[in-house]
Amino acid sequence: MSPKRKKPEPYKGFEQGPIRPPSEAYSLLIRVTRNCPWNRCTFCPVYKRSKFSLRPVEHVKQDIDTVHKYVEILRQLADEFGRMDRAELSKVMEHTDPGESPAFHAALQWLGGGLKSVFIQDANSLIIKPSDMVEIMTHLKQRFPWVERITSYARSHTVARIKDEDLKAIREAGLNRIHIGLESGSDKVLKLIKKGVTKETHIKAGQKVKKAGMELSEYVMPGLGGKQLSKEHALETADALNQINADFIRLRTLAIPRRAAMYEDYQAGRFEKCTDLMTAKEILLFLENLNGITSMIKSDHILNLFQDVEGKLPDDKADMINIVKTFLNMDPERQRVYQIGRRIGVFSGIRDMEDPARLRRAEKTCDELQITEENVDAVTDELMNRFV
Ligand code: SF4
Repeated sequence: MSPKRKKPEPYKGFEQGPIRPPSEAYSLLIRVTRNCPWNRCTFCPVYKRSKFSLRPVEHVKQDIDTVHKYVEILRQLADEFGRMDRAELSKVMEHTDPGESPAFHAALQWLGGGLKSVFIQDANSLIIKPSDMVEIMTHLKQRFPWVERITSYARSHTVARIKDEDLKAIREAGLNRIHIGLESGSDKVLKLIKKGVTKETHIKAGQKVKKAGMELSEYVMPGLGGKQLSKEHALETADALNQINADFIRLRTLAIPRRAAMYEDYQAGRFEKCTDLMTAKEILLFLENLNGITSMIKSDHILNLFQDVEGKLPDDKADMINIVKTFLNMDPERQRVYQIGRRIGVFSGIRDMEDPARLRRAEKTCDELQITEENVDAVTDELMNRFV
């Protein structure tokens, strides 16, 4: 008896996944795979109850074609400044096939964002066959030749196994930036959080991306080693990044939502979360140990205590260190005002404390919430969990 053939999956219309990096807020999202093929990182709640699957290349191309159709229609409606007549826009919406409505809205949003960049979803798109990725990139570039940047998330474990010539072919076809969740350079931390990758593999993958001529963003998670591994996490992460020299190092501080596997360990006291003060000391140690590289540090995540720790290495290193030191040298009461002000969105960085109106608002909130040395970290945790 011949083996049963799997029925081809029918096309169910344009799809988008749940997340993208903060820097891709204006990008068109094109979904190539669904969810995460690894799905075991203990801090990550994103795809927990969702099964991984590949989307047929033809379906992805159909998504691209549908968005292209609406981009063309909308471009004709827009004047030279991108403004559109509301009545005309409503007419197009009325005549849009309901099944194509998500693609229409994606096109509209992308037009508003300038049509410059595309982000390939979901969590590890490079897991598909390199020839399929080349085909998708080629199609994207044919439809949208003006696009400047095409980017994707990828796991180091996957990238490290791709042949150099395949990565290069993908780059030449259009994919020019990879976002990798490095999280930590410490093998102990990577094991603890079940990242499924070692420091060595992270370094190999990062170097391969650079060698292929792609831009590289590495995500680092301050606080991920908890109190116990904080120092090792800072030093080993800096050491890994010193060997990679990524274009961007992006900070995204640990938060532990209830849906994350780590939450149970945290509740049971098996994982001791760093206080903001400890995380600040960890970031300081991390920054002090970044040497010999030219990466751009970005702190573009709402969970970060210092959104102003940003700059290009090595020139801005001293300034970034000074920001963290300024916080660490404040008296405890002022530190608490900053922590709360930051978490309610009144401050984005230390310098915002010089604005009397903002300072008053943060102080008032501290009074209302009856913030003390004992409860400040519990309250900031609650506030942070609104964003994860
Ligand atoms: S690889 Fe990324 S998406 Fe997948 S579980 Fe880990 S952090 Fe989450």
